[in-house]
Parts: sequence; structure tokens; C-alpha cells
Amino acid sequence: PCDREELGRSSWSLLHTIAAYYPVQPSEQQQQHARNLVESMAILYPCEHCAEDFAKTIKQHPPRVESQEKFSVWMCEQHNMVNEKLGKPSLKCQLPLLLKRWRTGHKDCWED
Ligand code: FAD
Repeated sequence: PCDREELGRSSWSLLHTIAAYYPVQPSEQQQQHARNLVESMAILYPCEHCAEDFAKTIKQHPPRVESQEKFSVWMCEQHNMVNEKLGKPSLKCQLPLLLKRWRTGHKDCWED
């Protein structure tokens, strides 16, 4: 894909939304799936230098997957590190703000 910006927006949208819907008390298996997701992104993300940088960052800051709050805040912090690198403004990584942006602020289309 040649639209790095669009790919980035869609990818962050997916990652933050997954974190916002992540269980408050995840099982061991769910935690392993969350780690696998993050580690796979660092290998498979189609922008090669983005993936390489992300791989280095998650080595220093391994994903915190023990709860919805930890995973959401961790994801926000990763995004902020990329924001900083690109000269974009940071967001406050607080769970209520993240849930509003990525979960409750929208009509819920996937919970009937
Ligand atoms: P985005 O940064 O895509 O943000 C989308 C929306 O997320 C914002 O409008 C805001 O509402 C919300 N948001 C912003 N910050 C946060 C936060 N901290 N927590 C939660 N929500 C937030 N691009 C590069 O050029 N070089 C790179 O090395 C690079 N690495 C990337 C690594 C990963 C893992 C990903 C997923 C993307 C990467 N990108 C990279 C893409 C880049 O981060 C942006 O997605 C892209 O530049 C488009 O930016 P944007 O200003 O439209 O908003």
C-alpha cells in the first residue's frame, strides 16, 4: 500500500478499538492473543521501517495485557511515541478518555 497515512489511521483505529473492547479481566489465553497481535504487527505491518521501529519500541516496552486499562493505556503510549517521532501532538493516556474515543463515543455496532 502506498498511503502510509491512511494505513496508519486504520491500523491505530483497529488497535485502540481492540484495546477498548479487551476484557477487564482477560484470561491467560486472551492475554497471549493480545501479545501475539502486537508482536505480529511488529513483523507484518506493511510499512517496513514503521514495523522495525515498532519492534524496537515493544522490546523496550513490552505489551501490558493484564487488563483492559493496562492494554488501552499501553497502546496509547505506543501511539504517543510514534506521534512524538512524527511531530504530532500526544494524547492523554487515561482510560475514560480512551474508552470515550474508541468505544462509548460511537454507536455500538457490534454489541446488540
Ligand atoms: P493518527 O496518528 O493515525 O491517529 C488517528 C487518531 O487516533 C487521531 O485522530 C486521534 O483521535 C487518535 N489518537 C492520536 N494519538 C492517540 C493516542 N496516543 N492514543 C489513542 N488515540 C490517539 N508513520 C510514519 O510516518 N512513520 C512511522 O514510523 C510510523 N509508525 C507506525 C507504527 C504503527 C504501529 C502504526 C499503527 C502506524 C505508524 N505510522 C507511522 C502511521 C502514523 O502513526 C499515523 O497513523 C499517520 O501518520 C496518520 O496520522 P494522523 O495524523 O492521521 O493520525
